Amino acid sequence: MKAVAVTPGKKNSVHLEDIQRPKVTDVTAGKGVLVRVLKVGVDATDREINDALYGNAPPGDSYLVIGHESFGIVEEVGPNVRRVKPGDYVTATVRRPGGSIYDLIGTNDMTSEETYYERGINLRHGFLTEYFVDEEEYIVRVPKGLKHLHVLMEPMSCAAKAIHQAYEAQRRMRVWRPQRAFVMGVGQIGLLTALILRLRGIEVFSFARSKRGTLNSQIVEGIEARYISLSETSLEKATQEIGKADLIVDATGSSHMAFDAMRALGHNGVVVWTSITGADRKHEVPSDKINIDWVLGNKLLLGSVNANREHFEMGIRDLAVGEMMFPGVIQRILTNPVNGLDNYKEMMRLLVEEKSALKVFVNVANE
Ligand code: BGC
Ligand code: ZN
Repeated sequence: MKAVAVTPGKKNSVHLEDIQRPKVTDVTAGKGVLVRVLKVGVDATDREINDALYGNAPPGDSYLVIGHESFGIVEEVGPNVRRVKPGDYVTATVRRPGGSIYDLIGTNDMTSEETYYERGINLRHGFLTEYFVDEEEYIVRVPKGLKHLHVLMEPMSCAAKAIHQAYEAQRRMRVWRPQRAFVMGVGQIGLLTALILRLRGIEVFSFARSKRGTLNSQIVEGIEARYISLSETSLEKATQEIGKADLIVDATGSSHMAFDAMRALGHNGVVVWTSITGADRKHEVPSDKINIDWVLGNKLLLGSVNANREHFEMGIRDLAVGEMMFPGVIQRILTNPVNGLDNYKEMMRLLVEEKSALKVFVNVANE
Protein backbone atom coordinates (compact mmCIF):
# COMPACT_ATOMS: atom_id res chain seq x y z
CA MET A 1 0.00 0.00 0.00
CA LYS A 2 1.01 3.62 -0.44
CA ALA A 3 2.53 5.72 2.34
CA VAL A 4 3.92 9.24 2.46
CA ALA A 5 7.40 9.16 3.97
CA VAL A 6 10.59 11.15 4.45
CA THR A 7 14.24 10.17 4.76
CA PRO A 8 15.07 11.65 8.18
CA GLY A 9 18.11 13.87 8.14
CA LYS A 10 17.66 14.64 4.43
CA LYS A 11 16.05 17.96 3.60
CA ASN A 12 12.89 17.98 1.49
CA SER A 13 12.85 14.21 1.05
CA VAL A 14 9.07 13.69 1.16
CA HIS A 15 8.12 10.84 -1.20
CA LEU A 16 5.79 7.88 -1.69
CA GLU A 17 6.89 4.57 -0.22
CA ASP A 18 5.37 1.19 -0.97
CA ILE A 19 4.84 -0.58 2.35
CA GLN A 20 3.17 -3.75 3.53
CA ARG A 21 -0.45 -3.63 4.59
CA PRO A 22 -0.66 -4.37 8.34
CA LYS A 23 -2.79 -7.15 9.79
CA VAL A 24 -4.92 -7.09 12.89
CA THR A 25 -2.82 -10.00 14.21
CA ASP A 26 0.31 -7.82 14.18
CA VAL A 27 -0.77 -6.89 17.71
CA THR A 28 -0.61 -9.72 20.25
CA ALA A 29 -3.24 -10.97 22.72
CA GLY A 30 -6.13 -10.34 20.32
CA LYS A 31 -5.95 -6.62 21.08
CA GLY A 32 -5.29 -5.34 17.55
CA VAL A 33 -7.46 -2.79 15.78
CA LEU A 34 -7.15 -2.41 12.00
CA VAL A 35 -8.10 1.08 10.87
CA ARG A 36 -8.83 2.19 7.31
CA VAL A 37 -7.47 5.72 7.06
CA LEU A 38 -9.94 8.35 5.85
CA LYS A 39 -8.13 11.59 6.57
CA VAL A 40 -4.80 12.73 7.97
CA GLY A 41 -3.87 16.26 9.01
CA VAL A 42 -0.39 17.74 8.75
CA ASP A 43 1.14 20.54 10.79
CA ALA A 44 4.33 22.47 11.49
CA THR A 45 5.91 19.34 12.96
CA ASP A 46 5.60 17.58 9.59
CA ARG A 47 7.13 20.63 7.96
CA GLU A 48 10.08 20.54 10.38
CA ILE A 49 10.49 16.80 9.78
CA ASN A 50 10.65 17.38 6.01
CA ASP A 51 13.13 20.19 6.69
CA ALA A 52 15.29 17.61 8.49
CA LEU A 53 15.09 19.63 11.71
CA TYR A 54 13.23 16.96 13.62
CA GLY A 55 12.16 13.31 13.59
CA ASN A 56 13.81 9.89 13.26
CA ALA A 57 13.08 6.66 11.40
CA PRO A 58 12.18 3.47 13.26
CA PRO A 59 15.26 1.34 14.01
CA GLY A 60 16.26 -0.64 10.92
CA ASP A 61 14.31 1.52 8.45
CA SER A 62 15.72 4.27 6.25
CA TYR A 63 12.41 6.08 5.95
CA LEU A 64 9.74 7.43 8.31
CA VAL A 65 6.08 7.37 7.34
CA ILE A 66 4.81 10.78 8.48
CA GLY A 67 1.36 11.96 9.64
CA HIS A 68 0.24 11.94 13.28
CA GLU A 69 -3.24 13.54 13.09
CA SER A 70 -5.34 10.54 12.15
CA PHE A 71 -8.98 9.89 11.41
CA GLY A 72 -10.35 6.61 10.13
CA ILE A 73 -12.88 3.86 10.37
CA VAL A 74 -12.38 0.55 12.16
CA GLU A 75 -12.20 -2.27 9.61
CA GLU A 76 -11.41 -5.26 11.84
CA VAL A 77 -10.71 -5.96 15.50
CA GLY A 78 -8.99 -8.77 17.41
CA PRO A 79 -11.10 -11.11 19.59
CA ASN A 80 -10.22 -9.31 22.84
CA VAL A 81 -11.00 -5.76 21.75
CA ARG A 82 -13.89 -4.24 23.71
CA ARG A 83 -13.77 -0.49 23.23
CA VAL A 84 -14.37 -0.25 19.47
CA LYS A 85 -16.00 -2.29 16.72
CA PRO A 86 -15.91 -2.34 12.91
CA GLY A 87 -17.60 0.73 11.48
CA ASP A 88 -16.67 3.06 14.38
CA TYR A 89 -14.91 6.32 13.62
CA VAL A 90 -11.62 6.58 15.46
CA THR A 91 -8.41 8.49 15.90
CA ALA A 92 -5.17 7.27 17.50
CA THR A 93 -2.87 8.68 20.14
CA VAL A 94 0.68 9.51 19.01
CA ARG A 95 3.11 8.50 21.80
CA ARG A 96 3.96 4.89 22.50
CA PRO A 97 5.42 3.85 25.83
CA GLY A 98 9.04 3.64 26.83
CA GLY A 99 10.07 2.10 30.12
CA SER A 100 9.57 4.77 32.81
CA ILE A 101 6.92 4.57 35.52
CA TYR A 102 4.88 7.19 33.64
CA ASP A 103 4.90 5.03 30.51
CA LEU A 104 3.76 2.03 32.51
CA ILE A 105 0.67 3.78 33.89
CA GLY A 106 -0.66 4.99 30.54
CA THR A 107 0.85 8.49 30.73
CA ASN A 108 3.59 8.09 28.14
CA ASP A 109 3.11 11.79 27.28
CA MET A 110 4.96 12.32 30.60
CA THR A 111 7.79 9.87 30.02
CA SER A 112 10.89 10.67 32.05
CA GLU A 113 13.14 9.03 29.47
CA GLU A 114 15.01 11.17 26.94
CA THR A 115 13.97 8.90 24.09
CA TYR A 116 10.31 9.14 23.15
CA TYR A 117 8.39 7.15 20.58
CA GLU A 118 5.83 8.98 18.49
CA ARG A 119 3.97 7.62 15.49
CA GLY A 120 4.78 9.71 12.44
CA ILE A 121 7.40 11.75 14.27
CA ASN A 122 10.03 9.83 16.17
CA LEU A 123 11.11 6.18 15.82
CA ARG A 124 7.62 4.90 14.83
CA HIS A 125 5.82 5.07 11.51
CA GLY A 126 2.83 7.38 11.18
CA PHE A 127 -0.62 7.34 9.67
CA LEU A 128 -0.23 8.92 6.20
CA THR A 129 -1.00 5.63 4.54
CA GLU A 130 -4.00 3.47 3.67
CA TYR A 131 -4.32 1.29 6.78
CA PHE A 132 -2.76 1.11 10.20
CA VAL A 133 -2.94 -1.31 13.09
CA ASP A 134 -2.55 -0.51 16.74
CA GLU A 135 -3.42 -1.82 20.15
CA GLU A 136 -6.89 -1.00 21.44
CA GLU A 137 -5.32 1.11 24.21
CA TYR A 138 -4.18 3.71 21.64
CA ILE A 139 -7.36 3.90 19.60
CA VAL A 140 -9.89 6.55 20.62
CA ARG A 141 -13.46 6.54 19.41
CA VAL A 142 -14.76 9.68 17.70
CA PRO A 143 -18.51 10.34 17.98
CA LYS A 144 -20.36 10.21 14.67
CA GLY A 145 -21.66 13.70 15.34
CA LEU A 146 -18.10 15.04 15.28
CA LYS A 147 -16.88 13.33 12.11
CA HIS A 148 -16.89 16.65 10.26
CA LEU A 149 -14.05 17.72 12.61
CA HIS A 150 -12.02 14.56 11.78
CA VAL A 151 -8.29 15.46 11.91
CA LEU A 152 -8.74 17.99 14.72
CA MET A 153 -8.90 15.29 17.42
CA GLU A 154 -5.10 15.08 17.84
CA PRO A 155 -4.39 18.84 17.95
CA MET A 156 -7.36 19.20 20.29
CA SER A 157 -5.85 16.58 22.60
CA CYS A 158 -2.66 18.65 22.88
CA ALA A 159 -4.68 21.77 23.71
CA ALA A 160 -6.75 19.80 26.25
CA LYS A 161 -3.60 18.53 27.93
CA ALA A 162 -2.05 22.01 28.10
CA ILE A 163 -5.08 23.45 29.89
CA HIS A 164 -5.57 20.43 32.12
CA GLN A 165 -1.91 20.60 33.15
CA ALA A 166 -2.27 24.28 33.99
CA TYR A 167 -5.21 23.55 36.29
CA GLU A 168 -3.42 20.58 37.86
CA ALA A 169 -0.32 22.69 38.56
CA GLN A 170 -2.37 25.59 39.88
CA ARG A 171 -3.76 23.43 42.66
CA ARG A 172 -0.68 24.84 44.45
CA MET A 173 -2.82 28.00 44.91
CA ARG A 174 -5.63 26.22 46.82
CA VAL A 175 -8.02 28.70 45.21
CA TRP A 176 -7.46 29.48 41.55
CA ARG A 177 -10.24 30.90 39.43
CA PRO A 178 -8.65 32.32 36.30
CA GLN A 179 -10.72 35.09 34.75
CA ARG A 180 -8.53 36.41 31.99
CA ALA A 181 -6.42 34.38 29.58
CA PHE A 182 -4.08 35.36 26.77
CA VAL A 183 -3.60 32.88 23.97
CA MET A 184 -0.58 33.68 21.81
CA GLY A 185 -1.08 32.48 18.25
CA VAL A 186 -4.14 31.69 16.18
CA GLY A 187 -3.01 28.49 14.48
CA GLN A 188 -4.93 25.32 15.20
CA ILE A 189 -3.56 24.88 18.75
CA GLY A 190 -4.17 28.54 19.61
CA LEU A 191 -7.75 28.46 18.34
CA LEU A 192 -8.60 25.16 20.02
CA THR A 193 -7.05 26.38 23.27
CA ALA A 194 -9.14 29.55 23.08
CA LEU A 195 -12.24 27.39 22.61
CA ILE A 196 -11.47 25.26 25.68
CA LEU A 197 -10.98 28.39 27.79
CA ARG A 198 -14.16 30.04 26.50
CA LEU A 199 -16.09 26.90 27.45
CA ARG A 200 -14.84 27.47 31.00
CA GLY A 201 -16.27 30.98 30.98
CA ILE A 202 -12.87 32.67 30.88
CA GLU A 203 -12.39 35.97 29.08
CA VAL A 204 -9.97 35.13 26.27
CA PHE A 205 -7.70 37.43 24.26
CA SER A 206 -6.11 35.83 21.21
CA PHE A 207 -2.94 37.54 20.01
CA ALA A 208 -1.71 37.24 16.43
CA ARG A 209 0.59 39.00 14.02
CA SER A 210 -1.97 39.29 11.22
CA LYS A 211 -4.51 42.10 10.95
CA ARG A 212 -8.16 41.76 11.84
CA GLY A 213 -10.52 40.38 9.20
CA THR A 214 -8.65 37.17 8.45
CA LEU A 215 -10.36 33.80 8.77
CA ASN A 216 -8.43 33.21 12.00
CA SER A 217 -9.81 36.40 13.51
CA GLN A 218 -13.35 35.44 12.44
CA ILE A 219 -12.97 32.09 14.19
CA VAL A 220 -11.70 33.86 17.32
CA GLU A 221 -14.73 36.13 17.27
CA GLY A 222 -17.00 33.17 16.46
CA ILE A 223 -16.09 31.61 19.80
CA GLU A 224 -16.57 34.96 21.54
CA ALA A 225 -12.92 35.59 22.26
CA ARG A 226 -11.19 38.93 21.49
CA TYR A 227 -8.72 39.12 18.62
CA ILE A 228 -5.74 41.37 19.19
CA SER A 229 -3.51 42.10 16.22
CA LEU A 230 0.11 42.74 17.12
CA SER A 231 0.40 44.71 13.90
CA GLU A 232 -1.95 47.29 15.47
CA THR A 233 -0.70 47.30 19.04
CA SER A 234 2.10 45.80 21.10
CA LEU A 235 1.69 43.12 23.74
CA GLU A 236 2.92 45.61 26.31
CA LYS A 237 0.35 48.25 25.34
CA ALA A 238 -2.47 45.74 25.19
CA THR A 239 -1.51 44.42 28.64
CA GLN A 240 -1.57 47.96 30.04
CA GLU A 241 -5.10 48.42 28.71
CA ILE A 242 -6.56 44.99 29.49
CA GLY A 243 -4.56 44.09 32.60
CA LYS A 244 -2.25 41.13 33.09
CA ALA A 245 -3.49 37.59 32.47
CA ASP A 246 -4.07 34.79 34.99
CA LEU A 247 -3.17 32.23 32.36
CA ILE A 248 -1.14 32.54 29.16
CA VAL A 249 -0.76 29.80 26.58
CA ASP A 250 1.86 30.25 23.90
CA ALA A 251 1.17 28.40 20.65
CA THR A 252 2.97 30.66 18.19
CA GLY A 253 5.84 28.39 17.18
CA SER A 254 8.15 31.29 18.07
CA SER A 255 10.41 30.98 21.12
CA HIS A 256 10.85 34.75 20.95
CA MET A 257 7.09 35.21 21.51
CA ALA A 258 7.07 32.51 24.19
CA PHE A 259 9.58 34.52 26.24
CA ASP A 260 7.91 37.89 25.51
CA ALA A 261 4.60 36.52 26.77
CA MET A 262 6.16 36.07 30.21
CA ARG A 263 5.95 39.84 30.73
CA ALA A 264 2.15 39.81 30.51
CA LEU A 265 1.41 37.36 33.34
CA GLY A 266 -0.21 38.45 36.62
CA HIS A 267 0.64 37.31 40.14
CA ASN A 268 0.13 33.61 40.94
CA GLY A 269 -0.46 32.90 37.26
CA VAL A 270 0.84 30.30 34.87
CA VAL A 271 2.37 30.46 31.40
CA VAL A 272 2.12 27.28 29.33
CA TRP A 273 4.47 26.71 26.41
CA THR A 274 3.30 24.33 23.68
CA SER A 275 5.44 25.14 20.62
CA ILE A 276 7.90 22.68 19.13
CA THR A 277 10.77 24.93 18.01
CA GLY A 278 13.14 22.59 16.21
CA ALA A 279 15.45 25.31 14.87
CA ASP A 280 18.22 27.16 16.73
CA ARG A 281 17.11 30.79 16.91
CA LYS A 282 18.44 33.11 19.60
CA HIS A 283 16.68 36.01 21.27
CA GLU A 284 17.84 38.36 24.00
CA VAL A 285 15.58 38.47 27.05
CA PRO A 286 15.30 40.96 29.97
CA SER A 287 16.39 38.28 32.39
CA ASP A 288 16.54 40.49 35.52
CA LYS A 289 13.00 41.71 34.92
CA ILE A 290 11.62 38.24 34.29
CA ASN A 291 13.50 36.80 37.23
CA ILE A 292 12.21 39.37 39.74
CA ASP A 293 8.67 39.23 38.31
CA TRP A 294 8.65 35.49 38.64
CA VAL A 295 9.90 35.46 42.20
CA LEU A 296 7.84 38.36 43.57
CA GLY A 297 4.71 37.11 41.82
CA ASN A 298 4.97 33.38 42.59
CA LYS A 299 4.60 32.70 38.89
CA LEU A 300 4.84 29.39 37.10
CA LEU A 301 6.20 28.43 33.68
CA LEU A 302 5.00 25.07 32.40
CA GLY A 303 5.90 23.07 29.31
CA SER A 304 3.32 20.73 27.81
CA VAL A 305 3.83 18.16 25.08
CA ASN A 306 1.70 15.50 23.47
CA ALA A 307 -1.41 13.97 25.05
CA ASN A 308 -2.52 10.64 26.38
CA ARG A 309 -5.81 8.84 25.89
CA GLU A 310 -7.51 10.81 28.70
CA HIS A 311 -6.66 14.12 27.01
CA PHE A 312 -8.08 12.85 23.72
CA GLU A 313 -11.30 12.04 25.54
CA MET A 314 -11.36 15.45 27.26
CA GLY A 315 -10.71 17.20 23.96
CA ILE A 316 -13.45 15.27 22.20
CA ARG A 317 -15.94 16.19 24.93
CA ASP A 318 -14.99 19.85 24.59
CA LEU A 319 -15.35 19.71 20.81
CA ALA A 320 -18.84 18.31 21.34
CA VAL A 321 -19.78 21.08 23.78
CA GLY A 322 -18.12 23.61 21.46
CA GLU A 323 -20.40 22.49 18.62
CA MET A 324 -23.41 23.11 20.86
CA MET A 325 -22.19 26.50 22.00
CA PHE A 326 -20.68 27.85 18.77
CA PRO A 327 -22.19 25.73 15.99
CA GLY A 328 -20.22 25.52 12.76
CA VAL A 329 -17.31 27.66 13.88
CA ILE A 330 -14.56 25.11 14.58
CA GLN A 331 -14.92 23.33 11.23
CA ARG A 332 -13.75 26.55 9.57
CA ILE A 333 -10.24 25.64 10.76
CA LEU A 334 -10.21 22.84 8.16
CA THR A 335 -9.22 25.05 5.25
CA ASN A 336 -7.08 23.08 2.79
CA PRO A 337 -7.97 19.53 1.74
CA VAL A 338 -5.66 17.65 -0.61
CA ASN A 339 -7.09 14.68 -2.47
CA GLY A 340 -5.24 11.38 -2.26
CA LEU A 341 -1.83 10.28 -1.00
CA ASP A 342 -0.47 10.76 -4.54
CA ASN A 343 -0.78 14.51 -4.04
CA TYR A 344 1.80 14.60 -1.25
CA LYS A 345 3.82 17.27 -3.09
CA GLU A 346 0.89 19.63 -3.09
CA MET A 347 0.32 18.83 0.59
CA MET A 348 3.88 19.85 1.44
CA ARG A 349 3.71 22.91 -0.82
CA LEU A 350 0.61 24.16 1.00
CA LEU A 351 2.24 23.49 4.35
CA VAL A 352 5.38 25.43 3.43
CA GLU A 353 4.17 28.20 1.12
CA GLU A 354 0.49 28.89 1.68
CA LYS A 355 0.49 31.28 4.61
CA SER A 356 -3.30 31.47 4.64
CA ALA A 357 -3.65 27.69 5.00
CA LEU A 358 -4.86 27.24 8.55
CA LYS A 359 -5.11 23.48 8.26
CA VAL A 360 -3.84 21.22 5.50
CA PHE A 361 -5.16 17.66 5.46
CA VAL A 362 -5.22 14.74 3.07
CA ASN A 363 -8.42 12.99 2.02
CA VAL A 364 -6.90 9.53 1.90
CA ALA A 365 -10.09 7.58 1.14
CA ASN A 366 -13.84 7.97 1.01
CA GLU A 367 -16.00 5.92 3.29
C1 BGC B 1 2.40 16.54 18.00
C2 BGC B 1 2.54 15.95 19.37
C3 BGC B 1 4.01 15.62 19.63
C4 BGC B 1 4.86 16.84 19.40
C5 BGC B 1 6.34 16.61 19.65
C6 BGC B 1 3.32 17.72 17.82
O1 BGC B 1 3.19 18.20 16.52
O2 BGC B 1 1.08 16.96 17.74
O3 BGC B 1 1.75 14.79 19.49
O4 BGC B 1 4.18 15.15 20.94
O5 BGC B 1 4.66 17.33 18.08
O6 BGC B 1 6.91 15.67 18.81
ZN1 ZN C 1 1.17 17.93 15.77
